[in-house]
Amino acid sequence: MFIPAGNGHDVIKDSDLPTNEAGFIKIDDFGNVKFDDDTYAKNIYAIGDISALEGADWRAKQGHIAEVMARNLAYNIQEKDKGGNSFKGYSEHINILCVMDTGDGASFIYRDAKKAYMIPMPIIGHWLKKGWGAYFRLSKLGRIPRIPGM
Ligand SMILES: Cc1cc2nc3c(=O)[nH]c(=O)nc-3n(C[C@H](O)[C@H](O)[C@H](O)COP(=O)(O)OP(=O)(O)OC[C@H]3O[C@@H](n4cnc5c(N)ncnc54)[C@H](O)[C@@H]3O)c2cc1C
Repeated sequence: MFIPAGNGHDVIKDSDLPTNEAGFIKIDDFGNVKFDDDTYAKNIYAIGDISALEGADWRAKQGHIAEVMARNLAYNIQEKDKGGNSFKGYSEHINILCVMDTGDGASFIYRDAKKAYMIPMPIIGHWLKKGWGAYFRLSKLGRIPRIPGM
């Protein structure tokens, strides 16, 4: 299934926030909302799917990018409040990393600026993906500890 990012949220369309043609909020690498005249409002930020990601033609909005953007933005706001300018951007994290469940197996898919590959994972891939779903949900809800770095 291919879902084109061709239509932004009504809330954004009805606002005066700057959007790209598809209706997603224009930001810079650090999550600051970027107006058409290249100015920035003081404290307006956008992250995740609602934002217009920049980058290679094959870029895709993914959960892990939304998480990186969220983590970066929390850091960037703190950095700004401290008067610093060592901000963290999302663009270096743009890649496609996906385990596509096919019901009786899965495919591991990866793409970044340098490489692209697909590894078929018959049978076990399906159960790995299901296991990941359970781990992700329970660890996000704080019911089990998170594996460091994941
Ligand atoms: C079918 C599908 C499969 C995907 N598979 C993968 C995958 O395998 N791996 C991966 O990394 N990414 C995957 N993604 C992408 C991933 O789900 C998104 O990139 C990620 O969820 C974006 O997070 P977000 O917080 O920006 O937005 P969302 O997760 O969409 O969160 C936005 C939230 O805002 C709420 N909301 C909407 N309107 C309002 C309103 N007016 N008031 C209050 N709340 C509102 C919504 O209910 C929602 O909870 C998939 C996406 C789809 C659609």
